[in-house]
Amino acid sequence: MRVLIAEDDSVSRRLLEVLLAKWGYEVVVARDGQEAFNILESSDAPHLAVLDWMMPVMDGVQVCREIRKRRVEPYTYVILLTAKSGKQDVIEGLDAGADDYITKPFDTSELQVRLRAGRRIVELQNELLSIREALREQATHDPLTRLPNRLLFGDRLSQGLARARRQGKLLAIMFLDLDRFKIINDTLGHSAGDILLTHVAKRLTTVLRDVDTIARMGGDEFTIIISEIDSPDEVSIIAEKVLKSFPEPFYVNDQEVFVSPSIGISLFPTDGADAETLVKNADTAMYRAKDFGRNTYQFYAHLPNTTGIEQVSLDRDLRKAIEQQQLMPYYQARVDLRTNEVLGAEALVRWKHPGLGLLSPAHFIPLAEETGLIVPLSNWMLRTVCAQNVAWQKQGLEPMDIAVNISARHFLHSDLVESVSTALDETGLDPCYLGLELTESTLMHNPDTAAAALQKLKDMGVKISIDDFGTGYSSLSYLKKFPVDAVKIDQSFIKDITTNPDDAAIAGAVIAMAHSLKLKVIAEGVETLEQLEFLKSINCDEMQGYFISRPVPAEDFQQLLWTQRNSVLSSSLFAA
Ligand code: C2E
Ligand code: CA
Ligand code: CA
Repeated sequence: MRVLIAEDDSVSRRLLEVLLAKWGYEVVVARDGQEAFNILESSDAPHLAVLDWMMPVMDGVQVCREIRKRRVEPYTYVILLTAKSGKQDVIEGLDAGADDYITKPFDTSELQVRLRAGRRIVELQNELLSIREALREQATHDPLTRLPNRLLFGDRLSQGLARARRQGKLLAIMFLDLDRFKIINDTLGHSAGDILLTHVAKRLTTVLRDVDTIARMGGDEFTIIISEIDSPDEVSIIAEKVLKSFPEPFYVNDQEVFVSPSIGISLFPTDGADAETLVKNADTAMYRAKDFGRNTYQFYAHLPNTTGIEQVSLDRDLRKAIEQQQLMPYYQARVDLRTNEVLGAEALVRWKHPGLGLLSPAHFIPLAEETGLIVPLSNWMLRTVCAQNVAWQKQGLEPMDIAVNISARHFLHSDLVESVSTALDETGLDPCYLGLELTESTLMHNPDTAAAALQKLKDMGVKISIDDFGTGYSSLSYLKKFPVDAVKIDQSFIKDITTNPDDAAIAGAVIAMAHSLKLKVIAEGVETLEQLEFLKSINCDEMQGYFISRPVPAEDFQQLLWTQRNSVLSSSLFAA
């Protein structure tokens, strides 16, 4: 315990110094008030101060005032030494912030007792202080990573926004979510997942600037406040830096773990004026980043929004997109659950928009359906996919069927049979290698008409599957009437199939029912080994999903097929 002694009388000073050292205090001595003031200026606050009242230049009361003025924490307990004993004087000393006083000449044991009392109070004060610190830390920080939590993030964000408003600067919010974290958590265990999160937190801290706030919102979600910036480019540079730091493996229990982030970015003031809107928009942008293959970042501002004006220009753009070859099919492998062989693929359209980047169908298919553009789009898909399939066969790949999604409007209101036969004629593809996917709700719209239309397609020799099965209301009697080859269990049932008994029961029932009608069953959206094994155990026939492969461009899918041909399928695919 450090004690500052300030006493101009050399005999008293020496006496105090020796006594206090003997009692175990760490002593700092000043010969007058001015020297005491200098010590206060240059070193940590003492725990106790014994100040002579009467000193030249600066007296003990003034020194006491200085102590109270500058050092709030930790607390310094002040005892004044005074030769006077008038009540008025004592009150003046206490008003200045002194805690106690002793009259000179002092009695040694009385001094010892007073110091002990002071010491106890200092100890209690410090204890309170550290409890308060801990409580504050606990309330504002995430216990796992020690990063600021949601609460402190909100606080920092409102301060940052106020500053940005004052200075006329930009502020960016990054919403960062780890890709496939759930898989890591499920396969390596939660404690490994926790370790990984702490490593990620550390890495983010080293990559980002000290002025940036990194917070953990919960789970594998982090938010970052980037303040004092002048242009969005600066944010891009920071986002790139974050992405580049991730390919380096993380070590969890001596095991190398690879994980990548998806980042969504919103900017103040363009994407929102308040914290809530900005965070929401950064979150939306993050989901878009995930849509586009993850390990990437997206600005909210660059997302198409759905207000009227935007729709109109998107509609105009979409018309041009078909002519200007901005559309392209991505292919997702369909795999036999028994043999692990790739049996074929589903073609999923993507739009390489010149201004907005790669758009997923959710952003333009509804619009295309509304405006009728879906028909030319769908015809283009049919032709392109059939041509690609023929090209692959010519290259010597095993013939396989590739399916195209057909929307309700195309199926119900125009001559789909004509479209399909044109595509087949133009490309020379054998009809048995073309699949058509129709959603359950499309077919149930008018089941009798649907059954008749399906029959015509079936007679041509193409394969037909019912998409998103389980989400609509098909009854068994209709399923019997529809001449189809397969049903695809919707991914919403697969998601929790290993943990939710209801989903497992529905999947099991669909499989049993389909098998009794001699239909194949394909599971969609399989993301984990556990889901795959469960589906295998309930006799599902085929699967699609990120676990094997995301939808990928034609070249990448071709690569995957060659790998299979070289018969190293299971090992290499499962590692991908
Ligand atoms: P869908 O037919 O149900 O296609 C499956 C969707 O699930 C695809 O989304 C695919 O990328 C995604 N997916 C595949 N595996 C997984 C997985 O393991 N986990 C998760 N979470 N998702 C997975 P995408 O490509 O965004 O397509 C969305 C929808 O847009 C499709 O749903 C389909 O209804 C429609 N669509 C796509 N291409 C076309 C097209 O050429 N024509 C028409 N009419 N509709 C299309
Ligand atoms: Ca589909
Ligand atoms: Ca589906």
